[in-house]
Amino acid sequence: MERVRVRFAPSPTGPLNVGGLRTALYDYLFAKKHNGDFILRIEDTDANREVPGTEKYILDALEWAGIYPDEGPGIGGDFGPYRQSERKELYHNYAKVLIEKGKAYYAFDSSEDLEKLRNSKQEEGIPSVKYNHTTRLGMCNSLTLSDEEVHQKLENGDNVTIRLMLPSDREIRFSDEVRGEVRFNTKELDDKIIMKADGMPTYHLANIVDDHLMQISHVIRGEEWLSSTAHHLFMYDAMGWEPPKFAHLSLILKPVGKGKLSKRDSAAFGFPVFPLDWFDGDGNLQFEGFRENGYLPGALINFLAFLGWNPGTDQEIFSLDELCASFSLDQLVKSGARFDIDKAKWFNQQYLLALSDDELMTKVKDFLSEDYLKFDDTYLTKVADLMKERLITLKDLGTQAYYLFELPKEYEEKMIRKKYKPELKDHLDAILALLSEEYQSGSEIHDLVKSYIESNELGFGNILPLFRIGLTGTMKGPDLFGTMELFGKEECTHRMKIAIESFDKIFEAKQNQNA
Ligand code: GLU
Repeated sequence: MERVRVRFAPSPTGPLNVGGLRTALYDYLFAKKHNGDFILRIEDTDANREVPGTEKYILDALEWAGIYPDEGPGIGGDFGPYRQSERKELYHNYAKVLIEKGKAYYAFDSSEDLEKLRNSKQEEGIPSVKYNHTTRLGMCNSLTLSDEEVHQKLENGDNVTIRLMLPSDREIRFSDEVRGEVRFNTKELDDKIIMKADGMPTYHLANIVDDHLMQISHVIRGEEWLSSTAHHLFMYDAMGWEPPKFAHLSLILKPVGKGKLSKRDSAAFGFPVFPLDWFDGDGNLQFEGFRENGYLPGALINFLAFLGWNPGTDQEIFSLDELCASFSLDQLVKSGARFDIDKAKWFNQQYLLALSDDELMTKVKDFLSEDYLKFDDTYLTKVADLMKERLITLKDLGTQAYYLFELPKEYEEKMIRKKYKPELKDHLDAILALLSEEYQSGSEIHDLVKSYIESNELGFGNILPLFRIGLTGTMKGPDLFGTMELFGKEECTHRMKIAIESFDKIFEAKQNQNA
């Protein structure tokens, strides 16, 4: 088999969303599965649509995701340059070859001419108006003008474009690695522009020239490019080049309702659809990223891998290496895959659980406020251990378990009303007195508390909720004895003293109400 070379070819028209990242991932997995090369090519032939900062964003996102290219802009490689804007001259030559072969022609139509073409057809009730074999002879191009006129227009640089000359009725067939046999008839296609009046090639020409020159073996890209493939194959054939193999990926769909996942869904559904935060030109945060929302790259990658691919087994957790080993194009699904943020959360949870306490602590630190970072690493590692099972994202620790770093802001009143009586105060104090000044493990504390409650016939349900709420403010916190271990005797005593003052007030209010 020839060397596998797969390219990811984004246009720098804005940040890469998770759909683009999934395409890059599949490109990468396929390349690595076959010990091949993963190439990044920036398709920047449309300067008007270019958004500054996009290229850096793409490289950063790929690096964060762990799927960094072997070749690309700023990376190097034997087939550069990897930005199409730096390859401009090349495309001209190939466009000329197509003209010489009678597969393309010059067109000089003004935008008014084109507008007129569209309108005239609308009047006749024909819905889709194409510049093709049915209309080209009524337009201003090298097929209708004399050689002299053409020459003159080229000299003057009058709106010069180059269009493909598709046959009036030819079937173009290919076997898509995902969809099987796909057929198009040139009858229905338009004579696409391949060189624009500004002297830049369009995507179509630049794409096939580069795929050929960069020796791309497989083109794995989004479904939206399926119909362009007919034009691409026409050009490969015209040039006498062997085309690469094609695989068109199904869409990622909105979580609910119809249509493709879009950047607007982020605001609508309240979850990120971009890998990293994206800032607009004024430095304002425009879209939130998975990274900044506390997702691990491995989890996002694992989640994205499953949006359109099925390994055919029950295994769900795949490291990047395992994905590379298992991935195959024939396991890609043809239908669209629904974006389900709960599944992304589930993956993230699994990846967080698999971290050591130390690793988790290091990662969580990026999400903690200055105040919380005053706690030393030993303390933070214990917090990580205590909270691990409850975290969905790295962000949760600082927000949900704030009470491990500062005093509870409030106490769950309903429970206190139900459980607290001033007579219990002495018991709470007695239990605190039993704790040692020295370090004690959660299980030692558990045994102490248990034997006190049993020998005083108090019942766990009467005492433990008071400690829980007294220490953390909530019944939903982590393991009580683990929390007591973390705090130690002094902090537990301090917190309970403050809590009991509030409990007394709650009790008093209840008495007054009942009176
Ligand atoms: N530049 C195209 C895009 O932005 C690439 C399509 C392709 O991979 O051929 O998606």
